[in-house]
Amino acid sequence: MGRCDDLIGNLSDFIDGELDAETCSELEKHLAGCKNCRLMVDSMKMTVKLCRDGVQEELPPSLKKRLDKKLAERWKKQFGHL
Ligand SMILES: [Zn+2]
Repeated sequence: MGRCDDLIGNLSDFIDGELDAETCSELEKHLAGCKNCRLMVDSMKMTVKLCRDGVQEELPPSLKKRLDKKLAERWKKQFGHL
């Protein structure tokens, strides 16, 4: 843990609501120290909130897929790598 690509990989688990509390706090720790990821997640506040509250909201699989793809594309555009 602790690397940006780990974080981006975990974002889809966030969305699935499958992230355990420990991974969640690791992720938040990384976010606290990584401006790039913070900028990234700023656009995904809903996702972070899901994690914090431990609430599972249902996302249609099609939307989730689109979101994953969108995230990856956005990340590449913004930072030039995954
Ligand atoms: Zn990062």
